[in-house]
This record gives sequence, C-alpha cells and structure tokens, in this order.
Amino acid sequence: MRILLTGGAGFLGSHLAERLLGDGHKVICMDNLITGKKENISHLPASGDFEFVKHDVSKFIMVDEKIDYVVHFASPASPEDYLKHPIKTLKVGSLGTHNALGVAKEHNAKFFLASTSEVYGDPLVNPQPETYWGNVNPVGPRGCYDEAKRFAEAITLAYHRAQGIDTRIARIFNTYGERMRHHDGRVVPNFIDQILKGEPLTVYGDGSQTRSFCYVSDLIEGVIRLMNSKINEPVNIGNPRELSVLEFAEKIKEVSGVDAEIIFKPLPVNDPRVRRPDIAKAKKELGWEPRVELEEGLKKTIDWVKNNPE
Ligand code: NAD
Ligand code: UDP
Repeated sequence: MRILLTGGAGFLGSHLAERLLGDGHKVICMDNLITGKKENISHLPASGDFEFVKHDVSKFIMVDEKIDYVVHFASPASPEDYLKHPIKTLKVGSLGTHNALGVAKEHNAKFFLASTSEVYGDPLVNPQPETYWGNVNPVGPRGCYDEAKRFAEAITLAYHRAQGIDTRIARIFNTYGERMRHHDGRVVPNFIDQILKGEPLTVYGDGSQTRSFCYVSDLIEGVIRLMNSKINEPVNIGNPRELSVLEFAEKIKEVSGVDAEIIFKPLPVNDPRVRRPDIAKAKKELGWEPRVELEEGLKKTIDWVKNNPE
C-alpha cells in the first residue's frame, strides 16, 4: 500500500513509519514539525519508499500519487505541548482531521485516526471500556485536546456513516519508549531526565492519581492489527497494568538503580484521577495484548535516553 501518515515525524509516528516500511509499504510522512523532528526519521531510507513532506495538515492536503490508506497521527500529545498550543491543537483535531478524511475520500482510501484515552476525561468508571462516554470538562485547560479528539472521532464516524469511508479509531493510552522528546513534559521523559541528571523526581499532586503505561512496540503492533481489521468504531489500545504516579516514581528508581528524592508540585487542573484501559475488545477482535513488561520497556527507554543525549 501507499500510505499517507500525518504526524510521522513525531514519537509514535516515526515508529509506525518504520514498521510500515518494514512491512513493505510506501510511506508519505506529512508533518509540520511543531512537536516532531526530522532526526526521528533521518534513519529511514531516502529511497522511493519513504518521502517526507513538510505541511500543516490543518490546511488543505493534496497528494498526487494514488494512496490506499490515510493514517492520521498529527497532533500535539503532551499536556505541556497542547497547553502551549491550544488553538493549533483544536485546529489539527478538527480541520486537520477533516482534511485527512477529505484526502482519504478523494483517493477512495481507508482512514485511521489516532485518538486518545483523554476522550474519557477524568473518568468516573475504571477501567474504561469503549462504551464509556467519558467525563470531560470542555472549558478546562485540557479541553483543547480532549474536545479536539472527541470531535475527530465524531467526524470520522460521520464520514463513515454518511460517505462510506472505511474508518479505524484507536484510543491510545499513555505510551512511552525511545524517541520521546526529553523535555516534552510527560511523566516518563521527565522522570528519566531527572533521574539521569541526579535531580529530584517531580510528582504532581500527592501522586495517588493512576496511569497505565504501554511500551511503544506493543502499541505499534496493536495499531497494525487494527489497521488490518474491519472494525470501524473505537478500540482501546493500551497496557492495563495500573500504577499510581508515586509508585511509578519508585519504579523508575528501582529500574535505573538510582536513588532520588521525590518532591511534590501542584497537580495540574483537571488532571485525571485514574486511567486504565479495558482491552477486552482488542483482545477479542484483534487477538492483541501487550507483551512488554514495564520494567523491560523502562530499561530500554532509559538506555536509549543515555545513548541519545539531547
Ligand atoms: P508527538 O508530539 O511526538 O507527535 C505528533 C506529531 O504530529 C509531531 O511530529 C508534530 O510535529 C505533528 N503535528 C502536530 N500538528 C500538526 C499539523 N497541524 N500538521 C502536521 N503535523 C502536525 O506525539 P505522539 O506521542 O507521537 O502522539 C502521536 C499521536 O498519538 C497524536 O495524535 C496523539 O494525540 C496520539 N496519542 C498519543 C499518546 C501517547 O501516549 N504517546 C496517547 C494518546 C494518543
Ligand atoms: N506528572 C508528574 N510529574 C511530572 C509529569 C507528570 O507527576 O513531572 C503526572 C501528571 O500530573 C499526570 C501523570 O503524571 O497525573 C501523567 O502525566 P503525563 O503528562 O505523562 O500525561 P497525561 O496522562 O496526564 O496525559
């Protein structure tokens, strides 16, 4: 297939581009580099199979060659990034998704949306099944991301129902691994950066809020299986092992073998209290579940950060 991958120069997009090329597809990576970087894809072959196009997908997208799949990963994803770029985040989730659907329709291509566990907001149900409608504050600071993705899901399914576009929607839960930006503000790169510099780990709030961390290779396998499936409605992709942020700080200390002080900072507004995917649907429909233990994934990520100083 020839695949248009938006956001392909970001953390997840670059891993997906690598996997798609490895599977024998051609990839057009379209990215405006707002939170991604060329270095993430500089190792990919500059042959006819991989092409980089610098473009803001919130503006009209045109692709001359026939494409078979549009895979839409473009969007700031770290809370620090989307709080810095709230309007661009809303635009890429709304206008960007509309444009990506438009190019899929033009080419009679399939369409894949990278959505997020943030559509569940600060969930009142734990773990979260796909049938849960969520608890989002639309006018809070995180609303720019959560509502953009909720709109993106809505317009994706509207194009499916009204125009017959063959859609897939992955609700991605916290994913970590090689090529996360050292300073993107998310908890995994923050803690790793801090521990390697001998600085205290900054736990926000009292650290009792929970997250469930999925290693990038597991996530990519889930995405590939969903791409190849026939499921048009959302599927959760994430690791159901749930830890409090305080337990996660202890885990980083254990895996890195470095003892660090833990300091407490204010909890960001509307920071979800709990988050854990119910992956029964992915297990049943895709035969997928994560394989990489947190300890192993963290070790690989820490080694990568050590070998790739910013
Ligand atoms: P990232 O910031 O590393 O990558 C996003 C990429 O999109 C960047 O390369 C950025 O430059 C590009 N981009 C943003 N706006 C664009 C625009 N208007 N036009 C073209 N390119 C644009 O983030 P990531 O962690 O790789 O996330 C990728 C996708 O997965 C996002 O859609 C995100 O919402 C989703 N997701 C990620 C996670 C996670 O834990 N990593 C969790 C849930 C959902
Ligand atoms: N967090 C933290 N210290 C940090 C960065 C984040 O305690 O240095 C917390 C944050 O408040 C949240 C969790 O870790 O409860 C995960 O945050 P992240 O930014 O990785 O992503 P989120 O899951 O909130 O989208």
